[in-house]
Amino acid sequence: MRMEKKSILSFVGNGDGFATKRSNTCAYLEAGKDLIVIDCGFDAFAKLRDVGLFDGKANVHFFITHLHCDHAGSLAVAVSYLYHKVFDGCASHIRVHFPNASIVDFLKAQGVGEDEYYFNINRWDEIEIGDDYKLEYIFEENDHDDNLSVNGISGTWSVELVSTGRYNIYYGGDSAGVKDRITRTRIYDEIYHEVCSVKTQGHTSYEELKDAFSHFTRSERARIWLMHMDDDFDEQQAVDDGFNVTTTV
Ligand SMILES: [Zn+2]
Ligand SMILES: [Zn+2]
Repeated sequence: MRMEKKSILSFVGNGDGFATKRSNTCAYLEAGKDLIVIDCGFDAFAKLRDVGLFDGKANVHFFITHLHCDHAGSLAVAVSYLYHKVFDGCASHIRVHFPNASIVDFLKAQGVGEDEYYFNINRWDEIEIGDDYKLEYIFEENDHDDNLSVNGISGTWSVELVSTGRYNIYYGGDSAGVKDRITRTRIYDEIYHEVCSVKTQGHTSYEELKDAFSHFTRSERARIWLMHMDDDFDEQQAVDDGFNVTTTV
């Protein structure tokens, strides 16, 4: 029986694109009356709505790591729902953060025009959350899938969320291995990393992850939260090795 520890981010799903026992990995954080969502895969909208996360919110921020369907597959319906049903046609409450304009075409192809949300293309920015809350974010290129690049600009990203005095989080997205930089720093309160049972192209195997963090002490390893797992992933082994495994609401 493992002790449940609470992570800073919560999850409505923590599976990979083919998992059927888990839902698509989708993280969220409630900050006052604002909601921050990281990735919005093909079954995420229903989960976010059913849990009631859109109810009573002042603004909803979407940070998207890339446009694979298990990461952005229900973004269009989520934006459309918020625009028409929650914010009464007021796009400024719906903020989509992604450092590549391809997401605008991606949404447009699904009938969601640029007038239905506020688009922020920056790789780095500081944004206001609620009344007294500043959030700095940084997108960094990943090596996950070159097919998503547009005009030489990467289409796959990790994202860091930093709010001074509150948290400093690294969210890896799909990352094709662990970035060296992440293994050499201790600045993050929590690292969220994708992992799978066996190596597949563009993803990180458990063996790779374990190896990359082998120099971390057990308490340092406890700050690493695993996500984007396949249905066969051996959670107990990861816990026995000192990692934390995300759970879903
Ligand atoms: Zn994925
Ligand atoms: Zn992917």
